[in-house]
Amino acid sequence: MNTIYDVAVVGAGPGGYVAAIRASQLGLKTICIDDFEDASGKASLGGTCLNVGCIPSKALLESSENYEKAIHKFHEHGISATEVKIDVAKMLARKDGIVKQFTNGISLLFKKNKVKQLHGRAELVSSGDLMRLKITGSNESFVDAKHVIIATGSSPRSMDSVPVDNEYICDNTGALTLTKTPKHLLVIGAGVIGLEMGSVWRRLGAKVTVLEALPTFLAAVDEAVAKEAKRIFTKNLGLDIHLGCAVQEVSRKDETITVTYKEGDDIKTLDCDRIVVAVGRVPNSNGVGLDNVGVDVDERGFITVDHHNRTNISNIYAIGDVVRGPMLAHKSSEEGVAVAETIAGQYGDVNLDAIPWVIYTSPEIAWVGRTEQDLKSDGVPYKVGKFPFVASGRAQAIGDSLGFVKMIAHEESDRILGVHVIGPYASELISEAVVALEFGATSEDIARIVHAHPSLSEAMHEAALGIENRYLSL
Ligand code: NAD
Repeated sequence: MNTIYDVAVVGAGPGGYVAAIRASQLGLKTICIDDFEDASGKASLGGTCLNVGCIPSKALLESSENYEKAIHKFHEHGISATEVKIDVAKMLARKDGIVKQFTNGISLLFKKNKVKQLHGRAELVSSGDLMRLKITGSNESFVDAKHVIIATGSSPRSMDSVPVDNEYICDNTGALTLTKTPKHLLVIGAGVIGLEMGSVWRRLGAKVTVLEALPTFLAAVDEAVAKEAKRIFTKNLGLDIHLGCAVQEVSRKDETITVTYKEGDDIKTLDCDRIVVAVGRVPNSNGVGLDNVGVDVDERGFITVDHHNRTNISNIYAIGDVVRGPMLAHKSSEEGVAVAETIAGQYGDVNLDAIPWVIYTSPEIAWVGRTEQDLKSDGVPYKVGKFPFVASGRAQAIGDSLGFVKMIAHEESDRILGVHVIGPYASELISEAVVALEFGATSEDIARIVHAHPSLSEAMHEAALGIENRYLSL
């Protein structure tokens, strides 16, 4: 007889593998099915984030930043470095090593937590108290489970006029495996991936042009941060950013790709040797057998779920990029934990209003909560404190003093509504703001908390003090 699992998780990305581990920890018999294979055709757990997303891109960002520092920053410290060279193959090998360490690590975590791991593609074939999934791959098999968690993630959105081959025209996967620095890299889409990958290859010496469809730069980001980011990325980093552009066609002759695009009313062309297409991602809701069991999907392909990530079929849940909310690994993981706890009869919850966002450019951008423009358009009365890193002793000592911390609190209650950081280690600094939001803190709470000196976190403290215009270092 087929084993009956309490929980079958489809997908082993940061949503799925975390859901499986938590479910097993709670005593539920759990299996996790995943079909991802690395470039050599071997099963590799961790989904987009570990294999071709967050982790490898951070490795390349660090390498390219070190290279740039050696060339442009070391001299400020009295360090001379001549003939600094970048060995792209070695840089990629380091990145691959980090990825392997973590993807292998998930197999170990599964063993430790008694999660059964199965390589193959899962499709729901029947629902009811006991659901059946057909698994295809090297062997066909069936999995029976009382609960199913769909954590199938997302795929890059494609553009008909710019077909990806992952050699000359790349998506996020190809952008991480370019074997040499392009002479002229065109990035289509000035979003998270476009700016991160554009920064990597710009720092390694490529000329980088970014074409963005929207007339606004980083439209979802607080306007003050977006303005500062555009200034720094253009002036300091040297990205050539064009807004309001529609790419019409591309053609390649040998190593030259000619791109025709519309900018305002003008038709323009440019020549480049590599393109990265980063125009958003679409949910992976096809091929999971949702139609077979009647799971509802919205018009954009996202699986419809309630606040607890339950679909219209009561024992089928969906988490991460395949449902509403930001496409962020940490949001996925927390939904995975919450769903596992709900299935185990506990209370699982994720506060989608307190999810930190990070863009790992240099300087980093991170935020949580509402933007000033949102609050203004909703007519919410607010007050703002803003502290520039140029006035932070620690930032000056690090030699990274661009950007600021901006805190927004309700004008009457003083409750913190949003915090926006552009600057060094913004990804780390934002955690204090996330805790503050989750605890319903006021700016006065942060202002009264002792922050270590000298530390970058003092900028958060000063932004809080600034809400009542009582800066101590400005
Ligand atoms: P994105 O939504 O961040 O940005 C896509 C950009 O492309 C937008 O600015 C959009 O206006 C633009 N665009 C869309 N169509 C276009 C077109 N035809 N021509 C030119 N521009 C066009 O998407 P992404 O950068 O592809 O990233 C995908 C997802 O992955 C995001 O949701 C992001 O949150 C997630 N991600 C997160 C991180 C991180 O947390 N640091 C890193 C990478 C990816």
